Amino acid sequence: MKNILYHSTRNNNDKLKASEAVLKGLADDGGLFVPEELPKLDISFDELKKLDYKGVAYEVMKLFLTDYTEEELKFCIEHAYDSKFDTEEIAPLVYADGAYYLELFHGKTIAFKDMALSILPYLMTTAARKNDLKEEIVILTATSGDTGKAALAGFADVPGTRIAVFYPKNGVSPVQEKQMVTQKGSNVKVIGITGNFDDAQTGVKKMFNDAALKAELKEKGFVFSSANSINIGRLVPQVVYYVYAYVTLLKNGKVTPEDSINVTVPTGNFGNILAAYYARNLGVPIAKLICASNTNRVLYDFFTTGTYDKTKELNLSDGKFDAERKFTLTGSPSMDILISSNLERLIYLSCGSDDKKDSSLMKDLNEKGSYTLDDNAKSFLKDFECGFADEIKTEDKIKKLYKDTGYIIDTHTAVAAAVYDDYKARTNDDTVTVIASTASPYKFAKTVMGAIDDANKSKDDFALIDELNRLSGVDIPQAIEDIRSAAVLHDTVCDKEDMVSEVKKFLNI
Ligand SMILES: *Cc1c(COP(=O)(O)O)cnc(C)c1O
Repeated sequence: MKNILYHSTRNNNDKLKASEAVLKGLADDGGLFVPEELPKLDISFDELKKLDYKGVAYEVMKLFLTDYTEEELKFCIEHAYDSKFDTEEIAPLVYADGAYYLELFHGKTIAFKDMALSILPYLMTTAARKNDLKEEIVILTATSGDTGKAALAGFADVPGTRIAVFYPKNGVSPVQEKQMVTQKGSNVKVIGITGNFDDAQTGVKKMFNDAALKAELKEKGFVFSSANSINIGRLVPQVVYYVYAYVTLLKNGKVTPEDSINVTVPTGNFGNILAAYYARNLGVPIAKLICASNTNRVLYDFFTTGTYDKTKELNLSDGKFDAERKFTLTGSPSMDILISSNLERLIYLSCGSDDKKDSSLMKDLNEKGSYTLDDNAKSFLKDFECGFADEIKTEDKIKKLYKDTGYIIDTHTAVAAAVYDDYKARTNDDTVTVIASTASPYKFAKTVMGAIDDANKSKDDFALIDELNRLSGVDIPQAIEDIRSAAVLHDTVCDKEDMVSEVKKFLNI
């Protein structure tokens, strides 16, 4: 098997082993680690059809994480995808109204972040052992709501690690917040910031790039790493479920070996859809990758024009970036993001893996707030389709799908489903389509139930949970039962300028 090394999107020369990239999280130059080449499956789909989720996970992850031994990787997989998930299928496919919903929310915290964050702590502690790491690992995490809880659940009381999570104090759902602030564990810290997700992510990235801070930490016996999807250890486990979904469709006769599929993904930081792109490069016949945004449609504007602009919005009537781009809080808060980190990994590829070009575009983004791709890079993106759904459209989709089929989806999944409907109406493309279903509707009960019936809009999340149970017939997940009565253990709120001092306080340095 080919040994794959990793390097920064901004420097093709300094190469690291996979386990080293997992430990570091983000490159010192601010770039993201990418594999020096994207691997291909070395097993047939007929063989993959015989495997369960764990088996597929091994066949996919071994291609990316080549310095982990078979024994190490299988240990990580066995311990990650166990009874923490409420179904042995791990990622079931549910057909409703013309599309297959790939339910990625059957883990501990009922959002798709569990798919990777159940295994990341194992990958990271294994990497620490392999590399004789002396320091304690401090996981810094910025969250738009779901990563935080999934990372906390994964790293709580894991020896040799501590974890600090920063979330936008007024930018997450009540269930998301309650899940985080009730987190137990001797090594965990949850901090609300007076700012939005981009502020949290920028603050965390700044700490990663602060050489003086890192030196101080090292002296005290600590080293930073990341549980965000900037970490390649987050991305690789996410590739697995796209392979698994395709193989499941094949196995169940829903597609033939000659068919391609389309994939629609509700997108924020671009991690989940990038994983689909990596799966396509492995050999999964994915025709279109449909990127769905909510009202914060920076990615829609980008795929439509080739210009990424975090301050100006595309004016849909004149086609110019002459409207102010405002950050909007929506009912799909995990997609309320204007600085989409993982997009840099695609940009790098679109530039023909040219690290200089990538660096110069990212410099433009930092200094001017925008960058524009040249025609070559733009044509590289031709297999990505994009759309956006505002709040009304999203809620209409939840309601209509429920009325037509009885199936209830969460707000993020509904953004994707609405965008897919538009795509299908526009193109008449009837390729079998998988929609990434990224969270349980229980996590966003208020918006979901409000969409189904206006009368619910005045009720609170927790009252609506029982109502949702009655309508959907789906059992209330343990994650929800757990927080109903749990005590609040974290109440720190800080300004974004004070994130460093909060981390130091947490570490007692
Ligand atoms: C994080 C998240 C997303 C966005 O995923 P990205 O990988 O950031 O694009 C969508 N839906 C839910 C429920 C999420 O938690």
